[in-house]
Amino acid sequence: MSSFDNHKLGLIVPYRDRAEHIRQFLPYMLSYLAKQGIDATIYVVEQEDGTAFNRAKLLNIGVLEAEVDCDYFVMHDVDMIPVDVDYSYAAAPTHLAAAASQFNYSLPFPQYFGGITLFSREVLEAVNGYSNQYWGWGCEDDDMAWRCAFAGYSLQRRFPGRVESIRHETVRDKDRDLNREQLHAQYANKVSRNSDGLDTCQYSVIHRDETEERVWLKVSL
Ligand code: UDP
Ligand code: MN
Repeated sequence: MSSFDNHKLGLIVPYRDRAEHIRQFLPYMLSYLAKQGIDATIYVVEQEDGTAFNRAKLLNIGVLEAEVDCDYFVMHDVDMIPVDVDYSYAAAPTHLAAAASQFNYSLPFPQYFGGITLFSREVLEAVNGYSNQYWGWGCEDDDMAWRCAFAGYSLQRRFPGRVESIRHETVRDKDRDLNREQLHAQYANKVSRNSDGLDTCQYSVIHRDETEERVWLKVSL
């Protein structure tokens, strides 16, 4: 297990305008990971105002900005407080939020691969990370699951994956209304996934604040 292996985790939190959530999340997560003996750095990647939220692109930026010694990553919603979640290394893409309170401690749909997901650096590089095109809410996690499946990885789910979700109103960016079906079809046909991802992710870091506990990046997309 983690105390006896030498894997280094980069835990990436996509973030904007959830001050109360991040205030709860950070100290809790730091001690939770410490209890599991996980060697980790937390990266908060905060999106500057001005455009629709883009969770997937923030996650790509976290990977690109993380220390090179991070050899696996957990992509973590800020409002998911782990109660029984194992953050140790896995070679295969692994879903960790199997039983979140916001979904009645179950899955919202059988193929759900969102909320908290783990990828080795090798997998992320093989699939070219996430698409940068999912502005607004949703579907970027499905797209990522497809990328992994297309690349020949079998998706895993780690149990119990018990999570207490912080309650919040459903927020949807008003300009989220991209043509999701079209995007999905495009990816399902493998048209552009290889030309949209980590290697085409354009952004600038506006501010970087690093403490012993975490790295906080403010970015413009
Ligand atoms: N998020 C954020 N600010 C936003 C929207 C999303 O920080 O305005 C981040 C945050 O980490 C959140 C995640 O993206 O947990 C998923 O968004 P949300 O919680 O709104 O999704 P839902 O709970 O509706 O699935
Ligand atoms: Mn949420």
